[in-house]
Amino acid sequence: MGRFIEGCDRREQLFLPPCIDDYVADDSPVRIVDMFVDELDLSALGFDDAAVTGRPGYHPAMMLKLYIYGYLNQVQSSRRLEREAGRNVEVMWLTGKLAPDFKTIADFRRDQGAAIQAVCRRFVLLCRSLGLIAGGMVAVDGSRFRAVNARDRNFTPVTIRRRMEQVDASIVRYLGMLDTADRQEGEAAELRTARLTTRLDELRRQMRQLEAMEQAVAASPDRQISLTDPDARAMASAGTGTGQVGYNLQAAVDTGSHIIVAHEVINLSHDRTSLTNMGTQAREATGAGTLTVLADRGYFSGSEVLACQEAGIVPILPKPLTSGAKADGRWGKQDFVYQAASDTYRCPAGETMTRRFSTLEHGLTLYGYATPACRSQCTVKANCTASIERRIKRWEHEEVIEAMQARLDRMPGAMRVRRRTVEHVFGTIKDWMGRSHLKTRTMKNVGTEMSLHILAYNFKRAIALVGVPGLMEAVRA
Ligand code: SF4
Repeated sequence: MGRFIEGCDRREQLFLPPCIDDYVADDSPVRIVDMFVDELDLSALGFDDAAVTGRPGYHPAMMLKLYIYGYLNQVQSSRRLEREAGRNVEVMWLTGKLAPDFKTIADFRRDQGAAIQAVCRRFVLLCRSLGLIAGGMVAVDGSRFRAVNARDRNFTPVTIRRRMEQVDASIVRYLGMLDTADRQEGEAAELRTARLTTRLDELRRQMRQLEAMEQAVAASPDRQISLTDPDARAMASAGTGTGQVGYNLQAAVDTGSHIIVAHEVINLSHDRTSLTNMGTQAREATGAGTLTVLADRGYFSGSEVLACQEAGIVPILPKPLTSGAKADGRWGKQDFVYQAASDTYRCPAGETMTRRFSTLEHGLTLYGYATPACRSQCTVKANCTASIERRIKRWEHEEVIEAMQARLDRMPGAMRVRRRTVEHVFGTIKDWMGRSHLKTRTMKNVGTEMSLHILAYNFKRAIALVGVPGLMEAVRA
């Protein structure tokens, strides 16, 4: 036994230090959680700490500390937090050895959602006061998180049709088997017939349910119903071609410190309408006069780029390449040069295309440009168009898009900065969440859950940047 380090005898008297504080290291993150929460004005943040009659409840500060500690240590479920409160010395230190039951813990997260989200914003302000957020540039991205809703409990017109076809095919197959069984005699055949009849009844019942669901889906506002979590929506994944039922977390991350300065949970499967909203929230959180926002092409929308510019936000993102001509091996719109002074285009053959018409597409006013040269002397037409003439469409505010493209050209590494700023954040949070991602249901509760994850992420990030003593000093100041 002499070869190994020996532990203490667990029956030894006075084996424990006399005070629980001795168990918590001076630079333990739990100390900064404690200090941060104690310095908060919980009533101003919206926590409900009104006196109630009957048995006194737990103080919201203690409950908030318990949750922040839990999310910092990947203990997110209320049942596991209850267990930790009874056996984890750091939690005992934090809560004063109080051990609320799991229902009380879960109720706090459900009832204090708005206030918890305000705490998350308050921590960003603390990071700002520490000078961690430069405020000039953020990267925005969205990521899908699995909801508490299995895929077969989510219904869209497409999935219902597919399931109906499957049930139909099964009914046909079972009817054929029933015909065969009917032609046979004996006890085994009778048993088989009874079994097949039961199965057919079951399939017909499924079909009736699907027909009822089809009507319900048609009547729902966005043609979709999720049975377990009514707010969760089918999210297609462009990269893998697969899908999941979940939520879309939008996050704006400071490119210098990688602190998440703003976030929002939505249940849209695309990011196209989120650029201005995230940019505005990020500018408010960082206090920047002018904020540059980096995003990927999934955020591209002419009206969003225009709205950003009007709000004093400078977006930088690439335009999606949707030219059918380019895909067919012909010249794309980018091969035509706009001449602002004359409001004309110069085509690759050197001809001048003038404005001919205007049209309204998806709420945007577009101008059309063409040249009569297409119909007569063009020798390179085969490279340009398969129609009688080539037409170029230009949005009435196209100069906003051109200015953005010019910014992107001046900053060729912009998308690399975007990627390395924001993508690992989602990976880290998903890693902490585990395979099933979300624990709560409905948009409101998922928003609170995400805020706790982001608060924990920012805590860890700030500790990595300035250390526990530095953070404690900032809280005290
Ligand atoms: S087809 Fe028309 S637009 Fe295209 S290169 Fe020829 S003249 Fe120019």
